[in-house]
Amino acid sequence: MSISLKQTSLPLVFHPDYTITLPKGHRFPMEKYSKILQILLNDGVVSKDSIFTPKPANRNELCIAHNKDYIDAVFNNKLDSSAERLLGFKCNKTIVKRARAAVGGTILAARLALKYQIACNTAGGSHHGHPGHAAGFCIFNDVAVAVKVLQKQSIIHKALIIDLDVHQGDGTACFFSCDPTVFTFSIHCETNYPDKKKRSDMDFGLPQGTGDDTYLDCLRKNLPIAISKAQPDIVFLNAGVDPHIDDKLGKLNLSNNGLLARDLSTLDLCQKSKIPVACVLGGGYSDDLNELAQKHTTIHRAAKMVLNSE
Ligand SMILES: [Zn+2]
Repeated sequence: MSISLKQTSLPLVFHPDYTITLPKGHRFPMEKYSKILQILLNDGVVSKDSIFTPKPANRNELCIAHNKDYIDAVFNNKLDSSAERLLGFKCNKTIVKRARAAVGGTILAARLALKYQIACNTAGGSHHGHPGHAAGFCIFNDVAVAVKVLQKQSIIHKALIIDLDVHQGDGTACFFSCDPTVFTFSIHCETNYPDKKKRSDMDFGLPQGTGDDTYLDCLRKNLPIAISKAQPDIVFLNAGVDPHIDDKLGKLNLSNNGLLARDLSTLDLCQKSKIPVACVLGGGYSDDLNELAQKHTTIHRAAKMVLNSE
C-alpha cells in the first residue's frame, strides 16, 4: 500500500453502501453507520485523509470461506423463506451489496492493521453468519472471510478472533472449530441469542446483569491466556457495544466507562504483545441512534489513545 499516515492517525474503513434503508421499525439500526463516521470526523478522532474505501468482496473471496451453493443462492436472490427467517429480514440486492461492502471493509481493515498496527472497519462483526447459512442479521461472516482470504494469500498464518459482542459468535466458532490456525475467544451473555451456543476455543458465558468489575476481571485474566495459546499474526476484535446496560437486546450491564476500559485493555494488551488488531463494529441496539453511534465510537477513541501512547 503506497499511502502513508501520520503515526498517530487511526486508519478507518468506511463505504457509503454501509447505510441502507430497511423497513420502518426494523430492529436493525442501519443508519448508525454513517452517524458514526460523522461523529468521528466532528470530534477529530479521524481525519479525512485516514479514511479508506474498500472494494466490495467478490464471489471468489466469499467462496474461500462460505459454501459455494450458499453464496450462489444469496447472489441469485434465491434464499427461501425459512432461510430469511433465520436471517431476520428479507434479502434483496441492496442488502447483499451492503454485506459485500462490509466484508471488503474487514479485509481492508486487516491489511491496514498489518501496516499500521490498529485499523477499524465502521461495519462488520457479522458473527452469526455460518459457512452455509445466514442467521441473526448476518449474511456473510466478514471476519471468517478476511481470515481465510489473508491466509490463502499467505499474508498471515495464524489469527485470534476476540469476540466481545454480547451475543456468542456461533457462526465464527463453526468456521474454525477444526482449524488449529485460528483461535476463537468469546465473552458473551449466556442467556442472550443464540440459544444453542457453538464451541469457541475459549468461551465465557457470563450471567445476566454482570457489571463492569466481573466482566473486566474475566477479560483481563483470560485474554493473555488466549494470546499465549494462539500466538497470532493478527487479532480480529469484535467490539460490539451491546453488552452496555442501556442496550435494547443485550443483558449485561456494562457502563460507558466499562466499555472504554474493555476496549483499552484489549488493544493495549495486543499492542504490548506486538500483534496488529483489525477492529470490527459488532452489534448495538437502541432507538436513540445518536446515542448508539456515540457508544460505537468507544473503540475508535480507545484505538487512537493506544496508538498515541506508543
Ligand atoms: Zn450482538
